[in-house]
Amino acid sequence: MKHIIDIITMGCSKNLVDSEQLMRRFAAAGYEFYHNPEELHGDIAVINTCGFIGDAKEESVNEICNLVELKSDGLLNQIIVMGCLSERYRKELEEEIPEIDHMYGKFDWTTMVEDLQAEDAQAAGNATETEAAETTTLPALHSTGHYAYIKISEGCNRKCAYCAIPLITGRHKSRTMEDICNEIRELVAQGVHEFQIIAQELTFYGIDLYKEQKIAELVECIAAIPGVEWIRLHYAYPAQFPMDLLRVIRENDNVCKYLDIALQHISDNVLTRMQRHITKQETIELLERMRQEVPGICIRTTLMVGFPGETEEDFEELLEFTRQAKFDRMGAFAYSEEDDTYAAINYTDDISDEVKQTRLDRLMQVQQQISAGLLERLVGTTQRIIIDRREGDWFVGRTQYDSPDVDCEVLIPADAELQIGHFYNALINRTEEFDLYAEIAE
Ligand code: SF4
Repeated sequence: MKHIIDIITMGCSKNLVDSEQLMRRFAAAGYEFYHNPEELHGDIAVINTCGFIGDAKEESVNEICNLVELKSDGLLNQIIVMGCLSERYRKELEEEIPEIDHMYGKFDWTTMVEDLQAEDAQAAGNATETEAAETTTLPALHSTGHYAYIKISEGCNRKCAYCAIPLITGRHKSRTMEDICNEIRELVAQGVHEFQIIAQELTFYGIDLYKEQKIAELVECIAAIPGVEWIRLHYAYPAQFPMDLLRVIRENDNVCKYLDIALQHISDNVLTRMQRHITKQETIELLERMRQEVPGICIRTTLMVGFPGETEEDFEELLEFTRQAKFDRMGAFAYSEEDDTYAAINYTDDISDEVKQTRLDRLMQVQQQISAGLLERLVGTTQRIIIDRREGDWFVGRTQYDSPDVDCEVLIPADAELQIGHFYNALINRTEEFDLYAEIAE
């Protein structure tokens, strides 16, 4: 009997794309597979782990331990671990969790499928060599229904002092524009109209391949593909920001007036220690330029508190900046010391967890008020929305200012006859916390 495979994806959307790469190969090899199933099918479980920061690593290890328990109860045959955690800590995982059957790195999708095919061939008594199909012959596959994540490059050449990602993913490697646009054309043909453009570092796109930043040109190419309704950009980097990208966002209706750009901090002392290669003044000027060039742009950012050496003054500066900058969307983390990073090697993690947590809470409190006020401004406006799902008495959708799973949602009473994945105009009539309530506009 051929294996039935359950794939569990931990971590970020970039990891999801890696799981999709694996699913393409399982599909080509004729395996039955399920992605993040409610219940496992009891044969092989592949867990695509996250190794970004402490909490994420712990979550992945806990999930592996759950699988080990299922296996020891005879409810699972094999556990296969892949992704960022096994890319970094393979030896430790092998020693600490010997119940894991196979371990792979972050990008070993083809090897994993070949190994399984060889195992199956052996079990069937004809141990002939098997070749897993290469990506070029595999159909575009995505696991998110009417929208898709498009990873335009892998790796990162930046050296942010706290970040382990370059240690996991290696140096920046851009996909060709042709390859990216072909994938998008195939997905449009499969009924996908919304594309989340992602990378470890979006704005570096093209420097390795075309010897210059090509993100603006790439987005313009994608915007020209018939059937592409929404393009949303994530993981931009502030230093050496390609200003032409703002023109492309402004001039193309199907490019969402949205940009996710991680700023991490604002005090020059901390920015320097983080090796972010940008100053407070340059950051403020960049935000002003964005709002001038793309009126109404929705800016999502990520901030970090508790970085080694962050003084109370530095933190107060960050709080005041957050009050002034009024980000539409903001995520925040407390610094987590990651092995072999510049910060782990050169700094002492000198800020206590209590202080980190207090600073995080104060920062999020400030942002909550700002977000609530900004959301309130949408009441009485008509917004184009896409419907993601039905949930009880509500249809749940998003505006162009909302990325799936991380931003706000729009709730429409389910007495309307709406279709999942379709666009509608909605009149926003009230807000509650992070949600908007609306009715379909005639
Ligand atoms: S740009 Fe992002 S992925 Fe690259 S080192 Fe900095 S934080 Fe990490």
